[in-house]
Amino acid sequence: MASNPNALSSTALADTTLTGAAASGPAPSGTAPSGTASPTREQAQTVLRELVGHPEAEFHDGQFEAIEALVDGGRRALVVQRTGWGKSAVYFVASLLLRRRGAGPTLIVSPLLALMRDQVAAAARAGVRAVAINSANQLEWDTVREQLAADEVDVLLVSPERLTNPSFRENQLPELVRRTGLLVIDEAHCISDWGHDFRPDYRRIADLITQLPDTVPVLATTATANSRVVHDIEEQLGKDVLTIRGALGRDSLRLGVLTLPDSRERLGWLLTHLQDLQGSGIIYTLTVSAADDTARLLAEAGHEVLAYTGRTDPADRERAEQLLKDNQVKALVATSALGMGFDKPDLGFVVHLGAPSSPVAYYQQVGRAGRGAANADVLLLPGSEDRDIWQYFATASMPSEEKAAAVLTALAEAGTAVSTVALEARVDLRRTPLELLLKVLAVDGAVERVGGGWRSTGQPWNYDAERYSRIAEARVDEQDSMVIYQDTAGCRMEYITSVLDDETARACGRCDNCAGRWFRADIAEDATETAGQTLRRAGVVLEPRLQWPSGMDRLGVPVKGKIKPDEALADGRVLARLTDLGWGGALREAFAAGAPDRPVDPGMLQACVQVLREWGTGDARTPGWSGAGRPAAIISLPSRGKPLLVDSLARGISEIGRIPYLGQLQLNHGGPTGGRGGNSAYRLAGVWDRLVVGPELEGALAGIRGQSVMLVDDLVDSRWTLTISGRALRLAGAGAVLPLVLGQAG
Ligand SMILES: [Zn+2]
Repeated sequence: MASNPNALSSTALADTTLTGAAASGPAPSGTAPSGTASPTREQAQTVLRELVGHPEAEFHDGQFEAIEALVDGGRRALVVQRTGWGKSAVYFVASLLLRRRGAGPTLIVSPLLALMRDQVAAAARAGVRAVAINSANQLEWDTVREQLAADEVDVLLVSPERLTNPSFRENQLPELVRRTGLLVIDEAHCISDWGHDFRPDYRRIADLITQLPDTVPVLATTATANSRVVHDIEEQLGKDVLTIRGALGRDSLRLGVLTLPDSRERLGWLLTHLQDLQGSGIIYTLTVSAADDTARLLAEAGHEVLAYTGRTDPADRERAEQLLKDNQVKALVATSALGMGFDKPDLGFVVHLGAPSSPVAYYQQVGRAGRGAANADVLLLPGSEDRDIWQYFATASMPSEEKAAAVLTALAEAGTAVSTVALEARVDLRRTPLELLLKVLAVDGAVERVGGGWRSTGQPWNYDAERYSRIAEARVDEQDSMVIYQDTAGCRMEYITSVLDDETARACGRCDNCAGRWFRADIAEDATETAGQTLRRAGVVLEPRLQWPSGMDRLGVPVKGKIKPDEALADGRVLARLTDLGWGGALREAFAAGAPDRPVDPGMLQACVQVLREWGTGDARTPGWSGAGRPAAIISLPSRGKPLLVDSLARGISEIGRIPYLGQLQLNHGGPTGGRGGNSAYRLAGVWDRLVVGPELEGALAGIRGQSVMLVDDLVDSRWTLTISGRALRLAGAGAVLPLVLGQAG
């Protein structure tokens, strides 16, 4: 079609619609050309052109079919099309046509409301009055309610979380359901167990669909779904579903895989070749610390890069996105936090340091490149530790029968509503998995959210072990597919699109297997050396706990509120986090299940000594030894799993630093109970009064009363063991307690 290139960037909507239209070429036979068509087609065409702001815009394959099914057929439709195809054009055009025929407002459920600002603005130009209700605009809710009552809203956008809000469900939803003219479910793969980011809130949507009269059309949209997810969504949509499924392959992407021996080589490759990659792009990592480390390394070598993770402030994230869009940075080094909704049509490349755990996740991330450009490069640098990291995230997100039963029992015993914070003192679960579990239980009807927290409904709940084991199996299959992707000798695009059940999957002729290696594999020697130095650099500040968990009296521990300053720890140091690129690998190995207890590795001991040297010197902001004074003695924790490791570390530091080693604290009542990974209150209860200063150590401490001591341990997670031990030492006369630990988990 005759597209005006200037229009491509005029609005987000024009961008997507025209790019898709141009890519799909002329309308196939069987699709009526404009001018000779049904009244619906003509009206739809006019609205599309207003929406896009282009007088010659045409629908492309599937768009009008979906609109027709909704508007004329009152049907239920599922659109599975890649990002950029123009799904929003379908629901805005359909909404306006339905409104003109007297239908009520469209209800759009989307997790991406904040990211839809551009589309909503474009829709307004075509006369679509769209408003949103989400947690960010509470002040506007009253106005929205009035507008709805006066029938002045064409499209109402709500987040899935809204649907679980009790007052929204009671006061507003019934009226909305009664009046709605079209229901749109964006990111519909979230309603399927098999979707890669299943969200319990989305199960409410299935309820919502069943409440709608059969005559109300429903549109579900998603960019990536394999056949299993498609069938699952179709089933939830109801009878006679029209599914429009496009090809996934992107002709502009050039895929490749480069397997290198370790992080040092992979970072060396980036240092050597980042500048060769065209335009600006994204470097994805699997963990926050890998993103931070990589961004720091590249920035120190003079590359314009910024880290972008779940820990980045929202304002800094927005700024980073803008800098990337404006090509003011070469790359963002990001975790999956840079996700759905980020749109830069001319993104030049996507490099992965470590593979995501599923083809869907990988395809979504690489699909951010080459939307509006003819060429984009996509390179995967897999890591040998990838599988460990996948495993870690997979086990962290599954509810267990035992935990669910504990939550239900706690709520039943309480008899009234219990807040999430209060529940933490009753059930050994951390905040995020606890909240996820509560949502699952709420959707299943066993608990409900009320003012003041959560309440048991008294309804029986059965743990669906079969369902969870099926999901776990599916996850393992996905991981295996990513490994095959790396090793395949065939076309990579064909492999990944066929794993995603794209029937049009075919060889691309562009990837490294089809057309030969398109990237260089050499690594500058000094680059590997620089990477190695950065990776060997060690030392992370370990901040002390300041507050006791609430509800400890319930667990028999007589503490609450702030930890008294004269019983608290000073700032400490950790050699590295287990997820760090540098020492993380060696530490993960040392602390892996079943790893033997050995004396500390000499290289690791040297790295600890370097950390201590820098700690003792201080810097512009912090005085040496965190302002606590040089430690007069070293004391270690009695290790249950790694006595040789801890003892050799404490003695090694004592020898090199010429600081006397006074021995260990003593176990009391058989030592700490419980393992890592539980919540704060339970961890504290498990170590409380179980580590004490023995008579011999007490005598030695009396000799250095008021001076600092260093407390050595192997692995820190909740910090409660250190906090309790530090408190015991301070009560026995230590001036300040400076923890030094090898690894930090979590
Ligand atoms: Zn290929």
